[in-house]
Amino acid sequence: MITLDDYRPIVGEEVVDQLFRLAERLGPRCFVHVNSTRKGGGVAEILSRAVPLLNQVGLDTKWEVIEGDPAFFEVTKAFHNALQGQNVRLNQSLLNHYQEINRENAQRFTWEADFILVHDPQPAWLINEMRSRVKHWIWRCHIDVSKPNIKVWKFLREIVSKYDASVFSMSQFAQNLPHPQYLIRPSIDPLSEKNRELTQEEIQEVLDRLEIERDKPIILQVSRFDSFKDPLGVIQAFHMVRKHTPCRLILAGGEATDDPEGAETLAEVKEAAQGEPDINVLLLPPDAHHDINALQRAADIILQKSTREGFGLTVTEAMWKGKPVIGGAVGGIVLQLRDYNTGFLVNSPEGCAFRIRYLLHRPELAKRIGKLAQEFAREHFLITRNIRDYLTLLSLLENPGSRVIEL
Ligand code: UDP
Repeated sequence: MITLDDYRPIVGEEVVDQLFRLAERLGPRCFVHVNSTRKGGGVAEILSRAVPLLNQVGLDTKWEVIEGDPAFFEVTKAFHNALQGQNVRLNQSLLNHYQEINRENAQRFTWEADFILVHDPQPAWLINEMRSRVKHWIWRCHIDVSKPNIKVWKFLREIVSKYDASVFSMSQFAQNLPHPQYLIRPSIDPLSEKNRELTQEEIQEVLDRLEIERDKPIILQVSRFDSFKDPLGVIQAFHMVRKHTPCRLILAGGEATDDPEGAETLAEVKEAAQGEPDINVLLLPPDAHHDINALQRAADIILQKSTREGFGLTVTEAMWKGKPVIGGAVGGIVLQLRDYNTGFLVNSPEGCAFRIRYLLHRPELAKRIGKLAQEFAREHFLITRNIRDYLTLLSLLENPGSRVIEL
């Protein structure tokens, strides 16, 4: 079992010691996280790693997942799309269904807790059904809500306003809400199967199994098949690069149980990639962490060409592996990539193609950016920092008004 002590060589003694001191000051507390899927997407990825570590520092931490039917996930995906700015139509019967499914889940949950962190809109309604069972309610938004659809945000705002606090990934996402708002960056776990060091043999084994040749530089994007991740824009950029410079594109992704639109986007991607032997479209199972790790380590350049992005854990994962990343200049990606420093930001397929060629022709620069990116990720985006932020948040909620936590 991985223990917090295993992180000491990576982040330093003080960082780990501080977590124990913060948790000790907080004392034994029950902390529940609720989201809408155990597999697929960044939220599940973080929770699967953070919950065991929070238990290790002494908080009784649970991870609950709300259960819903396809109609429920249609509604919540529509919320997601609307919060990221799309025009969606929601009628009253769909909204009633959203509330009904939350009500059923609240009846299934029998625990009481000191703190609850409710992730994203899917379980947000729970507060209306079980307010008195938890002392402190926190809503954690992982979505890029920089330009939300106003109608849908108004509906959600009414629910979220009942919470004691909310957490966003960056200041640009903060909203007009009647309670304190906190900024917490997401994080990756350097010791997970997704991110741990791999040997060259382990990497090669995965490439052989997935039938990927290493005859040309590899450009990779790992993402759920979702239009906001812009896989079609990636294919366009690849075609532009390929006219002049040989390379191979891998689009690797899977489905999340709370995302009903994946199949449609995947079909579009397959069509766009048809007849192109240098594009590999890989549909991976939700637990393909080892394979994704190997693909990221085998890649020469990693893309995350999103058009909206709450944070983009795939960017951090690539940075941690010392890879140069080209990302869409949106949402949380801009927190991670700084031009010529920790990566490159782009606004179009043309810009993306330009930067791919730029990096392919400058291997030394690519290496230097990868190194800087790795150190930036170590400093800001590892799970120990995320655990510290959660513990600090809980302390602040118990001691409202206090600005300093004495350890
Ligand atoms: N991921 C995965 N399999 C896939 C696609 C993505 O395990 O087929 C992982 C990816 O490595 C990352 C997370 O899911 O850890 C995606 O998080 P991100 O913040 O990039 O995007 P989200 O899916 O939450 O919008």
